Amino acid sequence: MSERHGRSLALDAIRAGLDRLRTAGTGFEPETFFGECAGALERESRPGLQAVLNLTGTVLHTNLGRAWAAPEAIEAVMAVMGQPSSLEFDLATGRRGERDSHVEKLLCRITGAEAATLVNNNAAAVLLTLTALAARREVIVSRGELIEIGGAFRMPDIMSRAGCKLREVGTTNRTHGRDYEEAIGRSTAALMRVHPSNYQVEGFTSIVDTRALAAIAHAHDLPMLEDLGSGSLVDLAPYGLPHEPTPQESLADGADVVTFSGDKLLGGPQAGLIVGRKALIDRIRKCPLKRALRLDKMTIAALEATLRLYLDPDRLRQRLPALRLLTRPRDEIHACAVRLQPAFAAVLGERATVDVVECASQIGSGSLPVDRLPSAALSIRMAGRGGGLDRLAARLRALPRPVIGRIHDNALLLDLRCLEADGEAVLRAQLPLLAA
Ligand SMILES: *Cc1c(COP(=O)(O)O)cnc(C)c1O
Repeated sequence: MSERHGRSLALDAIRAGLDRLRTAGTGFEPETFFGECAGALERESRPGLQAVLNLTGTVLHTNLGRAWAAPEAIEAVMAVMGQPSSLEFDLATGRRGERDSHVEKLLCRITGAEAATLVNNNAAAVLLTLTALAARREVIVSRGELIEIGGAFRMPDIMSRAGCKLREVGTTNRTHGRDYEEAIGRSTAALMRVHPSNYQVEGFTSIVDTRALAAIAHAHDLPMLEDLGSGSLVDLAPYGLPHEPTPQESLADGADVVTFSGDKLLGGPQAGLIVGRKALIDRIRKCPLKRALRLDKMTIAALEATLRLYLDPDRLRQRLPALRLLTRPRDEIHACAVRLQPAFAAVLGERATVDVVECASQIGSGSLPVDRLPSAALSIRMAGRGGGLDRLAARLRALPRPVIGRIHDNALLLDLRCLEADGEAVLRAQLPLLAA
């Protein structure tokens, strides 16, 4: 034990074992005793944050870490994490550099923006933008866009944290250009649009689009801000996915500052990206809050490598995991289900029935909430009165590479969209651990 885990942890484990023995009042049996102590120590030294197999059917699952990185991004992170790097050092002049500079040019090239800056996530991007451009003044937002996103990101709360006053206009389902115009006054700092990522209003609705809102803002010499949430960097329609607004479209339509996430549809690391007019981005960058929200070198490395993939759109789908999984053909997922079904049926035996079923995956992270992607799953139903489904789900989560499915309609569903060849091999290899 002390060979493997060190003296201090081994002693702690033995003391805890002796305490258990005293409480239980059972006799001391050396082999059992040390076996149990070693087992407990082994369980405790498993990392808390570990890789899992996401078979939930939600591709960009916030609780499972959203997008996973392309191999190029992983390599870039490894190259800078174990040694010094040119993080804030200009190799051409030998002077102090800017940490955003590694990514800014790429972002400008892809989105057509004049300038760009980066922070820790999109919530921080919105907070920083509002703090820098609108503190102590009013920002006008439609009542249809006062959204809450999972994990307590509420637009009105962010506004008050940024020290600006929210001026709500219109109604939940309808807001018109004149609603914004009538609200503009001496203390107005900006007009803002927020992409209602995770819900959709249907029926009798009316919204003011980016182009129209930017025109109103500019007629009053005000900046127009847009929070896109996910903000795909490519048009998803040619990939057979529903269209999601891109920052390049927003900027072309006249938005002055656009914010979006790095780890949603973009498929990179957690980050908040801010692109737009140079004069405004400069003000945002100079805000003291920027220092508190800045990115680490590992994130910058991963983001730069991910953005480089966008320079070669023809191969983007193969190289960017998020896009590859979202566009994975249903037949390929179905074939994986057919391959795995006998293995699951064999290991679960009489205890359960395992079927291949059609299902629908979701994009996740609040993107395109209504659209579903046709997929295939293994559906596991327990025999007899059907008890033990929760226990099976727990045993799958306890595997060396935990398997996360979802329980629906008395069955455990394992949506195989996100299980590619390497994951399938891992899953197959650990299946015997589910026997009896
Ligand atoms: C997801 C989202 C955010 C928060 O982004 P994070 O990167 O998770 O901080 C903010 N606004 C909108 C519209 C979003 O969809």
